[in-house]
Amino acid sequence: MLTITGIPASRGIVIGPVHVLRWEVPEVRHRIIPDEAIPAEIARLHSAIARAKDRLHEVRGRAEKHAGDEEAAIFDVQASMLDDADLIGEVESLIRQNIGAEKAFDLVMLEWRQHFAKHAQPMLRERVSDLMDLHIRVLSILLDLPDHDPVDLPPGANAILITHDLTPSLTVQLDRNAIAAIATDAGTRTSHVAILARSLGLPAVVGLRDAVERLHGHELAILDGSSGMLIVNPSEQHLAAYRDRALREQGEELELHQLLTAEPVTLDGVRIILRANVDLPEEAEQASHSGAEGVGLMRTEFLVVGRPAMPDEEEQYREYSRVVRAFDGHPVVIRTFDLGGDKLPIGGYPVEANPFLGWRAIRMCLDEPELFKTQLRALLRAGLHGDVRIMLPLVVSVGEVRQARLLLDEAAAELDARGVEYRRDIPLGVMVETPAAVIAADTLVNDVAFFSVGTNDLVQYTLAVDRGNANLASRYTPLHPAVLRLIQRTVEVGHNAGLEVAVCGEMASQPVMAFALIGLGVRELSVAPRSVPLVKQIIRGVSAKIAREAAAAAVAADTAQAAYDALAERLFSAFGDAPFLRHGLPVVVDGHTFESSAGP
Ligand code: PEP
Ligand code: MG
Repeated sequence: MLTITGIPASRGIVIGPVHVLRWEVPEVRHRIIPDEAIPAEIARLHSAIARAKDRLHEVRGRAEKHAGDEEAAIFDVQASMLDDADLIGEVESLIRQNIGAEKAFDLVMLEWRQHFAKHAQPMLRERVSDLMDLHIRVLSILLDLPDHDPVDLPPGANAILITHDLTPSLTVQLDRNAIAAIATDAGTRTSHVAILARSLGLPAVVGLRDAVERLHGHELAILDGSSGMLIVNPSEQHLAAYRDRALREQGEELELHQLLTAEPVTLDGVRIILRANVDLPEEAEQASHSGAEGVGLMRTEFLVVGRPAMPDEEEQYREYSRVVRAFDGHPVVIRTFDLGGDKLPIGGYPVEANPFLGWRAIRMCLDEPELFKTQLRALLRAGLHGDVRIMLPLVVSVGEVRQARLLLDEAAAELDARGVEYRRDIPLGVMVETPAAVIAADTLVNDVAFFSVGTNDLVQYTLAVDRGNANLASRYTPLHPAVLRLIQRTVEVGHNAGLEVAVCGEMASQPVMAFALIGLGVRELSVAPRSVPLVKQIIRGVSAKIAREAAAAAVAADTAQAAYDALAERLFSAFGDAPFLRHGLPVVVDGHTFESSAGP
């Protein structure tokens, strides 16, 4: 038996065979070939390319089935890149200089990837990850390595997919009928793979570091998404215990579901608005049955995942309208593209030394006004179908909000010129997810309609801890005094100006932290649909007065551990030994389970 511990990313227990997906560029040895071998080596290159194209055709068919025609088009683009005469010509030319086909292909692809990554034209930069996929695919054929596409699993395989990280092209191939859980070596609770797994409702563990290396595939394993453990070749005893626990968790989930129509109101009558985070438009209908009163955050960048081109206005309009209609008149907060950082970019992206401090989110949208206005026009039009609100990510100054508003006015004027109907008074709010936005929050209040605190990024920027770096997971502490004080200030400044202040980061869905947020005065929480009943249970089980006392003690604490203790002591005494706090939903603070004398 082997236990590999990572970071819990999406709860649930899966017992099934491991499927290891090694989607990385294989190492290639330098091989000098004699002159007489050159024609055969060139023929070998062409046969590998032909096989890669056949395979892409097959993969396209399956991606179309699982993700749709637009997403699957990425594979047409890749197949056409393999027809590029310049590319093939360069590889052939190296082979003619007596370099083995695989090394020749490897060298040319490395050069092309570098060249494209730095290209001035965004369309060409977008091709980098396609080149990377081709690099891996053709080399694997030339080196006779096993074909690792995830699509080969039979339906009902109930497999645990183990991979280094999920790239856009892998994501669109995921067959949800075959893959029951995801485990990655990279990533943390707030990185995109974890967000996506929670959206898809797939149990997941991330940050395992070396699982791909340690496993062969086909081993039987238990994935425990609540504790972040992968138990490989478990004993009969472990299997029996986990089967029991899986059953118990299902029961608890059912119990929580009975809260569907219950009001999220504290014991002392404080009404909290509980909304859902929606990452994929197709989840909207299901999310609307979670008991959420609207959408507190729709992450639109997932519309762009693995796509060969940006979605046009019509398509975006359709997708946003779908979410708005599903929530039938409830507010739907749609965030403008937050591309960059660790968010799945459009194929490629400029290579930056510090992507999280780079050209991302609102910065990119302001610099690419046509791309931004296309989205704004789609949002204005979707506004006709319900209560749409637009939210800008990663704002650091009011100048960005004013620039965005000008572009929103331009987008509206363009619709007027076309005679297209749209909603004229859409509220424009901002995510508060940088220390700058908090400290200068008073400079924002007159220009925005609402604040929504993005704790995933706020923690990262405040503590200077990369949210996606598994090695730093124990240092990523949302209960750090600095973070709590920044949230407190945001609430004070926002409420004093009469603005709604929501929290839509991961913090809102973890019991102890949701309790802290209520105590800090937050009256609107937005969480993954699956967490809505759990957070509702927390809200209904606590008094806002006690939460306030607990939060005051937490804010005054000098360490995250002391803050946790101050909160947990009061929360656990409110719930006694409530099983939903003790089992299956351990109180973890991004990968680190805090020890607490008052804990479960
Ligand atoms: C956040 O930063 O807290 C947030 C909700 O946005 P994202 O996780 O998409 O960056
Ligand atoms: Mg963010």
